[in-house]
Amino acid sequence: AAPVRAFPFDNSYARLPQHFFARQAPSQAAEPWLIKLNEELAAELGLDVDLLRREGAAIFSGNLLPEGAEPLAMAYAGHQFGGFVPLLGDGRAILLGEVIDRNGKRQDIQLKGAGQTPFSRRGDGRAALGPVLREYIVSEAMYALGIPATRALAAVSTGQPVYREEVLPGAVFTRVAGSHIRVGTFQFFAARGDAEGIKALADYVIERHYPELKAAKNPYLALYQAVCERQAALIARWLHVGFIHGVMNTDNMSVSGETIDFGPCAFMDAYDPATVFSSIDHHGRYAYANQPGIGQWNLARLGETLLPLIDADQDKAVERANDVITDYGKRFQAHWLSGMRRKIGLVSEEDGDLDLIQSLLALMQDGKADFTLAFRRLCALAGDDAAETAFTASFREPGACGEWLARWRERLSRDPQSPADRAEAMRKVNPAFIPRNHRIEQAIVAATEDGDFSLFEALLTVLSKPYDDQPMFAAYMEPPKPEERVLQTFC
Ligand code: AMP
Ligand code: MG
Ligand code: MG
Repeated sequence: AAPVRAFPFDNSYARLPQHFFARQAPSQAAEPWLIKLNEELAAELGLDVDLLRREGAAIFSGNLLPEGAEPLAMAYAGHQFGGFVPLLGDGRAILLGEVIDRNGKRQDIQLKGAGQTPFSRRGDGRAALGPVLREYIVSEAMYALGIPATRALAAVSTGQPVYREEVLPGAVFTRVAGSHIRVGTFQFFAARGDAEGIKALADYVIERHYPELKAAKNPYLALYQAVCERQAALIARWLHVGFIHGVMNTDNMSVSGETIDFGPCAFMDAYDPATVFSSIDHHGRYAYANQPGIGQWNLARLGETLLPLIDADQDKAVERANDVITDYGKRFQAHWLSGMRRKIGLVSEEDGDLDLIQSLLALMQDGKADFTLAFRRLCALAGDDAAETAFTASFREPGACGEWLARWRERLSRDPQSPADRAEAMRKVNPAFIPRNHRIEQAIVAATEDGDFSLFEALLTVLSKPYDDQPMFAAYMEPPKPEERVLQTFC
């Protein structure tokens, strides 16, 4: 067959020392069928979109290896629910290679679910259709919300069953990432006492993600600070939209600051800081409000791997790393607070703002208010006093909001924006549409049981403009009815 030149590959990871990965070709799918190709993203990546329309099923199932691909599975370790596993690696993901996108940024193209690798342990290397659709929907929703995340390039059904608690249709997900390097990648080398490996990896990460740090006095300390800064900003953004990652193991935390590995993730409906969806998170380790603290714990693990690079004197290195990890807490708090100020319509800063915000959250928790809807209705109220009934109707006892609303209005009177400008600014940070779990579940059930992808497509359409009102899709704003509620997610 003629070579398929769909990707202008330039594979830098494959040029790293060979113990960084295992070369592994994808396995064959029985009857691949292209569910979805993200044509806009494909064009942005400089790919041949026409060719992908024709050959996408073969390429994104792993059946047809495009010219220039150097498929490999990356090696990494990780703390899973607090317990260290020295060897994990891509057990069901295969990096086809990297391309430089239209913005000059290097991007990984990776197949997830295209068969076993040397890191598969007991796993089958496969993915079920449901989780593939969830990852597609949620990663594209994150992109539209403006939150750094891996992106969805394609979904293919394999025509083969996968065996979980039940027999499910198989699928392959193609994701695009600034890189797939994780905290756990650093831990892999640290666990082996491989100082050269850590240095080579750190140099590679600086070159790829933080080139401006090459000129820093201590580039490795600066790298650590920069990763902590991006994660502090990222996790704050998650909290602002009610996102719960679900499996914040160190192998699922990217050093580029992108949200990665959407497994049992979900968005919260009614506000409750203890919310957990993941079927495997029995103790709520990765509950909504635990995420900033878990981020800090994971970043402390990253810091440990960097100590030999930070300072030859290990006592000094520890002291410096500790300063960085303490600073992460402050950075997170600053990002979170400034985002929350914007959510309630403030552009100025006062000491009492934190208390005002916390009081609203407490009210929402007591009143079982839908997090997304309540904030969106607050936008309307900022521009028009007549919208008060709609806002208070989000709470179990609407009358309980009066005192808070009076405090809010009093505070707004000292903020410079006009009501109309404020309402508009608030609509840009308080989404009308999030990928609600019950909607995702409905889309998965229709696709899995009836081969009907119309709900999946509709969700992608609605979620591509999360900050627009889109009146014809008003039903997608609604929280689940009691019988629609989905309490658990699976990966
Ligand atoms: P996760 O926390 O879900 O991202 O995955 C943890 C580890 O398990 C990673 O090393 C994955 O590659 C691996 N893994 C998850 N599912 C499978 C599977 N079906 N087959 C092989 N490896 C898997
Ligand atoms: Mg993972
Ligand atoms: Mg995973």
